[in-house]
Amino acid sequence: MSSSFTVENAVDPLQPTPVPVEPVSKPIPLPVPNSTQSFWLDPEANPLAKAGSTGPLTSDVDICIIGSGITGVSAAYHLTRLLAERGAVSEVPNAQPLKIVILEARDFCSGATGRNGGHLTPVYFQFFTEYVAAHGTEDAVRAIALEQYVASSIVDLLHSTGQADAVDLVAGGRVYLLVSEDQEARAKADYEAAKAAGVDVSAVRFLGKEEVLETYGAPYPALWTPGHNLWPLKVVTHLYNLARQTASDSATSSLALHTNTPVTSITPIVSSSHSPATAFPRQWTLSTPRGAIAASYILHATNAYASYLLPHLHGPTGIIPTRGQVLAVRTDMSTKAAFADYDGSEYGFPRPVQPQDGSQPLVIVGGARQSAGPGYEMYEADDSGMNPRVSEALHALLPKFFPERCNASTSPDDVREWSGIMGFTDEYDVFVGPVIDPSQPEAHKGQYICAGYSGHGMTRAYGCAEAIAQKMVADLTAKEWDVPEWLPRHHITDRRKSSN
Ligand SMILES: Cc1cc2nc3c(=O)[nH]c(=O)nc-3n(C[C@H](O)[C@H](O)[C@H](O)COP(=O)(O)OP(=O)(O)OC[C@H]3O[C@@H](n4cnc5c(N)ncnc54)[C@H](O)[C@@H]3O)c2cc1C
Repeated sequence: MSSSFTVENAVDPLQPTPVPVEPVSKPIPLPVPNSTQSFWLDPEANPLAKAGSTGPLTSDVDICIIGSGITGVSAAYHLTRLLAERGAVSEVPNAQPLKIVILEARDFCSGATGRNGGHLTPVYFQFFTEYVAAHGTEDAVRAIALEQYVASSIVDLLHSTGQADAVDLVAGGRVYLLVSEDQEARAKADYEAAKAAGVDVSAVRFLGKEEVLETYGAPYPALWTPGHNLWPLKVVTHLYNLARQTASDSATSSLALHTNTPVTSITPIVSSSHSPATAFPRQWTLSTPRGAIAASYILHATNAYASYLLPHLHGPTGIIPTRGQVLAVRTDMSTKAAFADYDGSEYGFPRPVQPQDGSQPLVIVGGARQSAGPGYEMYEADDSGMNPRVSEALHALLPKFFPERCNASTSPDDVREWSGIMGFTDEYDVFVGPVIDPSQPEAHKGQYICAGYSGHGMTRAYGCAEAIAQKMVADLTAKEWDVPEWLPRHHITDRRKSSN
């Protein structure tokens, strides 16, 4: 990877490899029980919070998905649809409706998806030159195609199912403030390189400093791209309900959810003594404090926590838990657009819903991890706490970017702050495919992974989950996986450059 890549500003997707400051040997824990309270995880917004947390535990399944964030639930959504479209796995003798379960350590969707910045903003050309240097032009173009595909699929789905308002979807676009000459030069070079490679950049607009000052109140030149903001938990809840509906309508699968059911270990089932009624041998036992579950196939959708169950993913070439912070503050911002600096290291957007009581709108801001000091919050998997230096930088962010429009909020009543754990990788990109431990390549047969979005998953997870669902169904039916054109090939686990 290019030497210009630095961990300090490694926040956006096409951005350079975050090299951990120092490898940390302490093992990654399960998600902590006493996490900070995210605005998005308001109990009224989370009807599935405790779903399946009491009562009988599902004990035998074909597919077990671990994790109920946007990856795990999108995978369930795509699996149920694929099975319904293909008439289940009717090619397999004794095929029954496929039993799928989602297991979640805490409340529904309470990981990164329930704690993020609320942006659904695909890249158009950003960091194209670095990406080409790292992965070649074809995959750089695919990386953009993946994000465009995911963002438009989610937006189309929300509109076609009448949920756009229910999830507070706003098509305000994003203003990237070019806060230094270096950012301005890199943005222009990336734009020209992507255009020359055939990427459609026609929706992008460069804005002069005067125009930005007048329109947004920020004293910088900028560029604007289309993009959306939304309430991530509500989108994931909708996807889960759609998946349940598809499973029940098609009768080709069943879908269950058990929250507050952490998987503490996975062990192989030695004898292949599957009951004659199941088409697929049960290969794995998943242990939980509530009992054991036998499964044929497993999908790790655990993102930052992946190495808890897959220790070979601990360390610099695996998935590095990295703590991010978000601040919700009331202030007057008379624009619908989201904003960020070009490197995406600081970002935010005003909530679309205007308070009825005359109070100022809520603005959600995040990032500023570069202020954390050595370590940049990497290998930090505890979202019950926050870094005071990052807090301070987030409080100062709006007056810094928009001195003409925003004052820092002074009333503690107007402020909510929380943290969440992202999963960073050395290639800044996702692991999608069968789990492969290079030291024992056959040890995880039947286990798959889709994780490691490096702080930018909302425009990637839904598509990566679709790709892994296709791969799993292909394996179930002993067919070749027809890899989607938009999936960057270096995301695929057995094609990654790093050893894991
Ligand atoms: C502060 C912050 C701000 C962000 N802002 C943005 C943004 O604005 N835009 C954007 O695109 N991306 C953003 N991201 C990144 C984005 O939120 C993630 O990439 C995405 O949500 C990952 O989804 P996921 O489903 O893979 O992981 P998660 O949502 O983390 O889901 C994984 C789930 O697995 C569960 N789990 C883990 N281990 C176990 C186990 N052993 N047993 C059972 N369950 C387990 C966890 O509890 C968790 O619920 C942000 C992330 C953070 C933390």
